[in-house]
Formats: sequence, structure tokens, C-alpha cells
Amino acid sequence: MAGNLFGKFSGGLENLGGAIGDLVTGISKTVLLKDDPDVMVLEAQREIDGLKKQEAEIFIEIGRQAFAADAQAYPQGEKLRQLQSEIAAAEERVNTLIAQREEAKQASETAEKATLCPSCGHRNQEGVKFCQECGAKLGKTSCASCGAELTAGARFCGSCGQKQPE
Ligand SMILES: [Zn+2]
Ligand SMILES: [Zn+2]
Repeated sequence: MAGNLFGKFSGGLENLGGAIGDLVTGISKTVLLKDDPDVMVLEAQREIDGLKKQEAEIFIEIGRQAFAADAQAYPQGEKLRQLQSEIAAAEERVNTLIAQREEAKQASETAEKATLCPSCGHRNQEGVKFCQECGAKLGKTSCASCGAELTAGARFCGSCGQKQPE
């Protein structure tokens, strides 16, 4: 292709148009990947894989039905039952782990909601308005001037600097 192009270029300017035409054909062949033999092979293989997968699914279903109809007829039955009990045990472990994870998450959420006293650091239970250790005001309040959220007991607003009423 390159040699062919070179020949056409050296053949004179009148051949340049033809050479460019060849070049454009070459480029559009590269762009139209579906004409590429590699791509065609890949697509054909993908189609076979898809069909084989469907075939395998049907065989699996036939196998399930046959085994359900006459389990004694299959020597693999014992191994199968062993696998099934291992699967059940593994599923139980996963469920336990999920439950533990949820519990831990809820515990940490509850701990987060508990109000930390800004004055003495005592962790008070949720909903308490005054520290059960030192009596300081707890919770959130808003700035009397700009409305920014403040920790109860803050003497000045962190947003606008306004001194807060006692
Ligand atoms: Zn306190
Ligand atoms: Zn403010």
C-alpha cells in the first residue's frame, strides 16, 4: 500500500488525486472496523460464546429437573448435597456478618447523635438539653443576628462575629 502510494506520487501531479482517493479508501477501511477480519472473528466468537451460554443454562435446568425426579440415579448426588449444605452454611455466615455490620452502623449513629458537652466533654444521651454532668446548655442554636447554626452556649457567632445573648 505504501509502495503503491509512493509510486503514484512520483508518477506526477495528475496522479495525486488518485493517490489521495486510495488513501481515503484505506482510512475508511480502518474506520469501518466491522470490515476488519480481527473484529469479524471476535464477533463470531462472541456469538458462539453467547449461544453456548444459553445451551449450558438449558443443560443446567434439565439437570435440576432430572435430579429432582430421581436423585438416586446420580452418583454425584452425595457430593451435590455436601455442596448445598456448604452453600447454606456460607449464606448463614454472610447474613450474620451483614446483621453485625448493620448493628455496628446503628451503634455508631446513636453515638454520633449523643450530645457531647462543649463545656466538660461529657457524652450526654440524645435529646438532653442540659449537660447531666455540669449543667451547661447543649444542642444547637442559631445566631441571633445572621441565623448561622451555632453550638448551644457559644458566646460569639462563628459566621458573623455577633456576640450572642446569654
Ligand atoms: Zn458538661
Ligand atoms: Zn451570626
